[in-house]
Order: sequence, then C-alpha cells, then structure tokens
Amino acid sequence: MTKQSPDLTVFITTRESSCDECGEELGRHAWITLNQDKGAFCLSCADLDHLIFLPAGDAALTRRARKYSNLSAVVLQWSRARKRYERQGLLVEQQALEQAEQECLADADVRTRRREREAERRAQFDRDYVDRFAGRVRELFPGCPSGREMAIAEHACLKYSGRVGRSADAKQLDEDAIRLAVIAHVRHVETRYDTLLARGYDRQDARAEVAAAVERVLAQWAVRK
Ligand SMILES: [Zn+2]
Repeated sequence: MTKQSPDLTVFITTRESSCDECGEELGRHAWITLNQDKGAFCLSCADLDHLIFLPAGDAALTRRARKYSNLSAVVLQWSRARKRYERQGLLVEQQALEQAEQECLADADVRTRRREREAERRAQFDRDYVDRFAGRVRELFPGCPSGREMAIAEHACLKYSGRVGRSADAKQLDEDAIRLAVIAHVRHVETRYDTLLARGYDRQDARAEVAAAVERVLAQWAVRK
C-alpha cells in the first residue's frame, strides 16, 4: 500500500506537559502528538501506543519498516543548540519492523534482536497482572484466536505501567476494562483503522468508520469455536 498523506508526527517535549484528553501529567520529555484544534495528546490517547520505536541511523531498515507499516509516525525533538526539529526515529508496527529486519539481516541476527526487544518489553510488565488480564479476556471472548489474549493483556499492562495515579482503577479486571482493551486491539489489528489514521482521518471519524467491523469481530470472538 502506498501512502498519499504526509507522515504523522510525534514530538518529544522539552518542558513539562500534560495530555489534553486524559489529563495525565506526562512530565518532561514526554512523547505527544499535537492537534491544532484540540491540543496535545499522549500516545495512548492518540492511539499510537502500540507502535514500536525504531531509532534513526539505519536508513535501509527505516525505509523498509515504513514501507510495511500501515501506520507510522516520525518522532521529532527540538534541538536547542541547532534551533530546529531533529528526527529521532520512526514509530512503526511491530510486524513491519520484523519484516524489515528480516530483509536486512541474517536470520540469527533477527532472532537476537527480537529476543532483546521482547525481553525489554517484558521487563516492564507486571507478570501476574498480565496473566490475570489474559485469563479474563479468554473467559469473555473464548473465540478469540490463540495468543491474542496475551497481546491484548500486555498492551493493557504497558499502557498502565508508569501511570501510578490511575493504576488502581485501571487494574480492575472488570468486564468494561477488558472489553475496552479488546476493542482497541480489534480496531488496530482486524480493521482498517490504522490505515485510516495514516491517511489523516480524525480518530473519531476513523472509529465511526470501523465500528461495524469491530462489532462483527467481537460477536465472533464471544462464541467458543
Ligand atoms: Zn492521554
């Protein structure tokens, strides 16, 4: 698929900031998106927090990862010394990065990199919480493809790690919390949502566009196969 619209951009802030949607205090050096009318959003609220950061430096890898990613964002940071925004790297989909790595590297290197990346991610997880969350997903959506419950639970866990103020609420494994996490996953993985965002759709419009498709998948997953 070719992209017609300009890249989405993510800024690493240089001063204290907060998210204009969820109100989260993001501290200094937060990763945000800026919207002319609506202000600054954290990556969770911007629906970009499932993307993986690929630091600048490897041109071939970057070009390929961008090509395979339905949704990608350029990460910029203001350089005080040079008085301009400098490209730090690219946020891309995990499977796009893996495909790009596979083309760029020998297999052994790919496996090493993947292991390192996974270890890095897993180190941030509250393992117990992830397992309980995954178990609840499986209970509520017994028809969901094998392994997805883990992906959904890990994403939910990543999202709430470091969000101390909200973690007590967020960690409640009630049906609504589980359902919201599953919906977010289905939207990204099973619908054209990311492609629409990449084309510059507003999040609300993109969500409306894929709502019926999300409902169809949820209905299938709710039934044991
Ligand atoms: Zn937010």
